[in-house]
Amino acid sequence: MSVPYKIEASEELLLGGTQGEQQPRASERIPIIARPFVSDRAKKTLDIVEKFVEEECIPADSIYAQQVGEGVVNRFSAHPPILEDLKKRAQELGLWNMFLPKNHFKEGAGFSNLEYGLMAEHLGKSHIASEATNCAAPDTGNMEVFAKYGTQEQKDKWLKPLLAGKIRSAFLMTEPDVASSDATNIELSIKKEGNEYVLNGSKWWSSGAGDPRCKIYIVMGKSDPNNSSPYKQQSVIFVPAETPGITIKRMLSVYGFDDAPHGHGHLVFDNVRVPTSSICLGEGRGFEVIQGRLGPGRIHHAMRSIGAAEKALEYFLARMNDPRKKPFGKQLHEHGVMLERAARSRVEIDASRLQVLNAAIMIDSKDAKFALKEIAEAKVLVPDMALKVIDRAIQAYGGAGVCQDTPLANMWAHGRTMRIVDGPDEVHLIQLGRNENKKGKFMHQKIEWQKKKSEEMARSYGIEKRDVLQLDRQHSKAKL
Ligand SMILES: Cc1cc2nc3c(=O)[nH]c(=O)nc-3n(C[C@H](O)[C@H](O)[C@H](O)COP(=O)(O)OP(=O)(O)OC[C@H]3O[C@@H](n4cnc5c(N)ncnc54)[C@H](O)[C@@H]3O)c2cc1C
Repeated sequence: MSVPYKIEASEELLLGGTQGEQQPRASERIPIIARPFVSDRAKKTLDIVEKFVEEECIPADSIYAQQVGEGVVNRFSAHPPILEDLKKRAQELGLWNMFLPKNHFKEGAGFSNLEYGLMAEHLGKSHIASEATNCAAPDTGNMEVFAKYGTQEQKDKWLKPLLAGKIRSAFLMTEPDVASSDATNIELSIKKEGNEYVLNGSKWWSSGAGDPRCKIYIVMGKSDPNNSSPYKQQSVIFVPAETPGITIKRMLSVYGFDDAPHGHGHLVFDNVRVPTSSICLGEGRGFEVIQGRLGPGRIHHAMRSIGAAEKALEYFLARMNDPRKKPFGKQLHEHGVMLERAARSRVEIDASRLQVLNAAIMIDSKDAKFALKEIAEAKVLVPDMALKVIDRAIQAYGGAGVCQDTPLANMWAHGRTMRIVDGPDEVHLIQLGRNENKKGKFMHQKIEWQKKKSEEMARSYGIEKRDVLQLDRQHSKAKL
């Protein structure tokens, strides 16, 4: 055993217990409609993931937070030892790189999007479980970019150490001076000079850039501002984090949380030079790269958010049954409104899970493009659901819910960003609404046709078509 903490033989402690009050293990809780798509190997791994998260990662979360230390400079150069221990442990257990789907990449652990989605739900219950298993964003999406679009040289240099969990990466698209949810606005300049590209501009919300282990940036910028197609003006380029001319000006907080050491950076690029071989896929193909990057990643975020919602509900149930807490003489579970909130949370989590798993099955059956609608639905539905569930738990804890005594406040802050990250709700809703509205003309015609048909049917039965509540009552003038 390579970790310094004690691993107990706690088979029955948390999972699959015998007391009737504990829940069956993860593989037995897979929704019935998804079960035929899950291999026995994935079921076994899912149970190991659940046990690893519940018994090792969640207890380690607060240790990790403490080991990150204090002060901006220290926090953003911290390398908590517990994380490296958990990484070793995860590798021993065979829990490594489960996110790379088997039908598209040979480099991963050989699971489908659905199978990994089920695992990601459990990873989402701990702050550090995703990184411990090398399944953390933004590395997951970035590794997909290297695996999908990288040259052999780029793969050897960046994908290999990323897959080994030796380095981390950041994806730099968003800029402080433009509305970045519309990627055509991105304006960091990429100019070719001889056998180099020269980059000038600034980026912010560069997640992961705070960590000194973050060695590679995937940067989107404008390489051809005069191209007649706004979708061909952008390129994506690989930039080593230590290239001269890059300054990490400051880190950004999320509702006061600094997310150190990973963090979210505000960076300036001042005449940053990289060789032309650093381009991803080719000049002007930036949109292709960012679109290819996001599909499965949104499913991962959604499934982790479902895990967060499950954890919030666990906290809610724990508080409802805390014998020390009896407002107005009764424990919270004796107040009907709380039972209703528990029930609503259960209904909403279960419905959202089915939606996301359906999207994952659709990606597996073809590709992310085939599941665009379902992915967008998950992107909008799940954060909204998770925020409601977490908020109910916060409310049940009163003052304790908004402070550092439970993970709920941090989970809410993180969950809230999910309505903005990877494109705000509105962008996905407008797309979904437009697509939905494409059926509008047909629906109008269909309903008019049905009305006419109904009139014809009435005539064939010799019935005069009347309103169901037709009254035709008349008051005689004489009586008035
Ligand atoms: C915690 C966190 C981590 C992030 N990590 C990264 C990262 O690693 N890399 C990266 O590049 N970016 C990252 N981002 C940035 C994120 O992707 C952007 O903030 C997001 O795309 C929105 O862009 P913007 O902030 O420029 O807002 P804008 O594009 O200015 O949009 C502002 C608001 O305008 C409204 N709006 C936008 N479009 C429409 C529309 N079509 N119809 C109606 N209303 C609309 C929405 O309410 C939207 O929230 C992160 C953000 C956060 C909060």
